[in-house]
Amino acid sequence: MRQILYGIKYLIDYHIFKKNTPLIAGLTLTDKCNLHCRHCKVANTGKENLSFKESITILNSFYKEGGRSIYFQGGEPFMWHDGEHCLEDLVMQAHEIGYLTTVIYTNGTIPIETSADTVFISIDGLQKTHDFLRGKTFDRIMRNIQQSEHPSLYINFTINNYNKDEIEAFCEHVDRIDQIRGIFFYFHTPYYGYDDLYIEAPERGEILIRLLDFKKKYKILNSRAGIKSAINNEWKRPLNICRVYEKEKMYECCSFPGNPELCKNCGYLSYAEIDQTLKLKPSAIFNALKYF
Ligand code: SF4
Repeated sequence: MRQILYGIKYLIDYHIFKKNTPLIAGLTLTDKCNLHCRHCKVANTGKENLSFKESITILNSFYKEGGRSIYFQGGEPFMWHDGEHCLEDLVMQAHEIGYLTTVIYTNGTIPIETSADTVFISIDGLQKTHDFLRGKTFDRIMRNIQQSEHPSLYINFTINNYNKDEIEAFCEHVDRIDQIRGIFFYFHTPYYGYDDLYIEAPERGEILIRLLDFKKKYKILNSRAGIKSAINNEWKRPLNICRVYEKEKMYECCSFPGNPELCKNCGYLSYAEIDQTLKLKPSAIFNALKYF
């Protein structure tokens, strides 16, 4: 209920009073990760972790600016520690400060035990493909999902050239796992250039059209409005109401700012959802209520 009231107030402020209150921020707690995924160049680069103190400062200041949704990411956020503090301490602090939604993005290889409201687990295909892209971890992740008692687990699936043909088979697989509430699809974004994972825009469009169809049968979290805006590549970007904090620096939208060519080819479709929610598209609003 508090989330709904906050959402209504946010939309009134945004549309009538033209306020640009920040909506959601991510804290990159660590670059340490126990995986070496093909697409990832931000893990294990030797960067320092965020400290507990710095994390709490950011949580407080973002809340004061008006933000009420926070997510924690890495590297692998469950690997983050500062002295005796672990990820759960930050989640509890965020709740205590007053955040309405706390989210964790994890690779799922560490037992999923948290009081965060929602957990997104990255899985990029069926066993063979996922293991090729992310290392031999598919079985372990599935075990962790099945053993988790968390009530709000979702999968993040980033579509690329290697997994694009098994989207429906993956949806069928996930449909049989009760703990998973849905799959959110992204596209591989060419942050580091146009590599073998990147799918050109026309083919992305064809995949998105298929996704609209699959949505009738499977637990796909992307809304119809979000998918359609991605088909037309018309969602607003960069989105300055979304923030990402990395050691000593707050970025708007993501940590690769100021590159219009990259933004044009951005596959970060959760921002398409936010854009469509702000444009008052019912399917996007309904979707947002599931995990915000
Ligand atoms: S690539 Fe551009 S649109 Fe995509 S998340 Fe980064 S700044 Fe935002």
